[in-house]
Amino acid sequence: MSRLNNKVALITGAARGIGAAIARAFIEQDAIVVLTDIDDDVGQAQTHALGDRALYFHLDVRREEHWARVTAEIESRFGRLDVLVNNAGITGFENGLCAHDPEHASLSDWRAVHETNLDGCFLGCRAAIRAMRPQAKGSIINISSRSGLVGIPGAAAYASSKAAIRNHTKSVALYCAEQGLAIRCNSIHPAAILTPMWEPLLGSGVEREARMREFVKDCPLQRFGAPDEVAALAVLLASDEATYITGSEMNIDGGMLAGASQKPSPPRES
Ligand code: NDP
Repeated sequence: MSRLNNKVALITGAARGIGAAIARAFIEQDAIVVLTDIDDDVGQAQTHALGDRALYFHLDVRREEHWARVTAEIESRFGRLDVLVNNAGITGFENGLCAHDPEHASLSDWRAVHETNLDGCFLGCRAAIRAMRPQAKGSIINISSRSGLVGIPGAAAYASSKAAIRNHTKSVALYCAEQGLAIRCNSIHPAAILTPMWEPLLGSGVEREARMREFVKDCPLQRFGAPDEVAALAVLLASDEATYITGSEMNIDGGMLAGASQKPSPPRES
């Protein structure tokens, strides 16, 4: 039985990584999927591979007019929007490593990360509420991060933007409920999901394996997660199985946030 039968879903940053995996999973559950991204060549190729229930639009999440154009296009083609996944996000390290700690980060780097991650999420939620209001129901899924729940000294803007997404999710959920709308809004908090986002940090060559091990050494499951594992959670939140879930945050992190795994050790002999 399909879980998203003919639901119309819009996914941002869907050309690759987690967004592309969510698009694939939604198609497998018989949704109609609008993939969007700023990387049009890769986005269009992804979409083509998904068959005729998928279509592609250019959408830079920072641009109000892009949101207006794409949601108007969806309205005119399908007459409704059922699901929005605010997935597009950047770390700030896309062009190589640079200072993102609280002492040395530049204001422009700080703002660039917030503009994509937070402003993009705000604009997406606003556009989705307006598009979903006529049918008074829908599901908005905001991809936050484990970094939205803990501090990250070396990626302070990323952590701040993801924490703000977590909180905005709850404001959206409560606002929609107050308005008598069955528009649900939830956040997903992944950690260490192996996607192209990691490439600038992993590098290549003989050290790559060692770097990968280092990144997951504190993960109880001792491995990176796969984009499909995040997509499975998005399917649940998008579906009518989740009609009582709103304002929630869902961690998908191999157990990292469950607590410290330090073992007590016997006192040393003096
Ligand atoms: P990727 O970098 O692999 O994919 C992100 C996609 O978003 C790319 O296609 C990118 O295009 C696109 N994008 C970037 N900026 C914009 C924009 N302004 N408008 C529209 N699209 C844009 O990332 P992931 O798949 O790893 O991450 C997806 C989401 O999951 C992000 O929000 C990320 O923060 C979050 N996340 C990921 C984790 C992980 O371990 N991978 C962990 C926690 C959270 P282009 O390639 O042209 O830049």
